[in-house]
Amino acid sequence: MLTLKFGGTSVGNADAIAQTVSVIAATKAQDQNIAVVTSAMSGVTDLLVNSARAAAAGQRQPFLDARDILHDKHLEAARTLIGSEEERSVYGQHVTKQLDFFARLCSSINVLGELTPRGLDVVSGLGERMSAPLLAAALRSRGVNSAWLDAAEIMVTDDNFGEAAPLLIPTCDRVQNRLKPMIEQGVTPVITGFVGATESGIPTTLGRGGSDFSAAILGSCLSADEIQIWTDVNGILSADPRIVPQARTLKQLSYNEAAELAYFGAKVLHPKTLLPAIERGIPVRILNTFNPDGPSTVITREPQKNGLVKAISAIRDLTLMNVEGRGMMGVPGIAARTFRAVADVKANVLMISQASSEQSICFVVRRHRSDDVQMALETEFERELTLRYIDRIHPVHNVVIVAVVGSGMRGTPGIAGRLFRSLGNAGVNVIALAQGSSESNISLVVDRADFEKAVQVIHRAFFQSRSVPTPQLV
Ligand code: ASP
Ligand code: MG
Repeated sequence: MLTLKFGGTSVGNADAIAQTVSVIAATKAQDQNIAVVTSAMSGVTDLLVNSARAAAAGQRQPFLDARDILHDKHLEAARTLIGSEEERSVYGQHVTKQLDFFARLCSSINVLGELTPRGLDVVSGLGERMSAPLLAAALRSRGVNSAWLDAAEIMVTDDNFGEAAPLLIPTCDRVQNRLKPMIEQGVTPVITGFVGATESGIPTTLGRGGSDFSAAILGSCLSADEIQIWTDVNGILSADPRIVPQARTLKQLSYNEAAELAYFGAKVLHPKTLLPAIERGIPVRILNTFNPDGPSTVITREPQKNGLVKAISAIRDLTLMNVEGRGMMGVPGIAARTFRAVADVKANVLMISQASSEQSICFVVRRHRSDDVQMALETEFERELTLRYIDRIHPVHNVVIVAVVGSGMRGTPGIAGRLFRSLGNAGVNVIALAQGSSESNISLVVDRADFEKAVQVIHRAFFQSRSVPTPQLV
């Protein structure tokens, strides 16, 4: 049993869908029991979301235009993919119905002048409800017995609209009753990714990019032998190839390493994807739809021993916030108050560092949240700032986190030495750093102007030098 998930670019137009159909047919020839999960056609979710937002802000034209654009986009793909005229017309009616619903929703949003998270989930989930029946019909046209299934019927979630959490027990129950029998009868189900519904049937979504997560949940309920994420890159690379041309696909990563990378900006996997897989020890493989026989990366439980550093990734558009002052030393509660203030404005903290002199706490937030964070801190520490216990709340904009990931670093002396020597020799200034006690991730904060050089020299030090073990690359 395999679960295959196809991302937006894999179903982005007729050619891509034809390629996806070939991949599915070839996989089915190897293993009869497969379940397919699909994203919306690329760009569709953004268009739906943006037109609903515009409607709430008083503009009607964007959603009226979007309706036409989306109609043409799906029907144009259907023209070449669906052989039977009758099937094409059934699909056309389905798309028209979804888009009429979309226009009615946007119209109400426009009248109310308000877009709730619950309303947005109804709108943003429509893309998958148009791509899944298209892919299923394209499969049938190529002789693969297939039917689409709306995940609202099987993916049961809580009501945290916009980022709903799947409820495993009822979901797996429905998978047993609804999905499993289809597969056992030789039908290849094409399930809408990203969407679900509450126990009482109100539509939800799992958060942007959530189709990976959908595939992992369903794969886990199906006890799949492998969860395959089909995308448009050759698996997970040792670094961004636009920065490091020598970057290569990593053959294998542990769950732990992949989680560090997903978190640190390697946008190949939705960060929550691995959770259900880890629970049941199911391997997650990342493959390229447009190069199916090319290199892929498999993520498994076993840490691979060869290779100290597996990959280097970077997150941009960040701000380093410094809370500085000599009066902070030995005063309990400063850190707690700092992070409570940050939490109150709902800003996410990506990295934290404080030296033992306790004269400053620094942490990293997204640039677009930094003004709110600064204001919250200035309010929280108004008294300390007046008394000069805290000298200043000082933001440094335009910084990048460079994360060096690999569980082989654990307990291996000399990694930091090699790392900082390479940066020092290249004249890269490290503004702040952090290493968790898992020792599988060293994170550095560098200036935007230095980060490409930083990634290049670290890659050279760990991957292109003969004196250190390198991971298995393909
Ligand atoms: N279509 C959704 C999005 O664009 C989900 C996904 O692609 O995984 O966020
Ligand atoms: Mg996606």
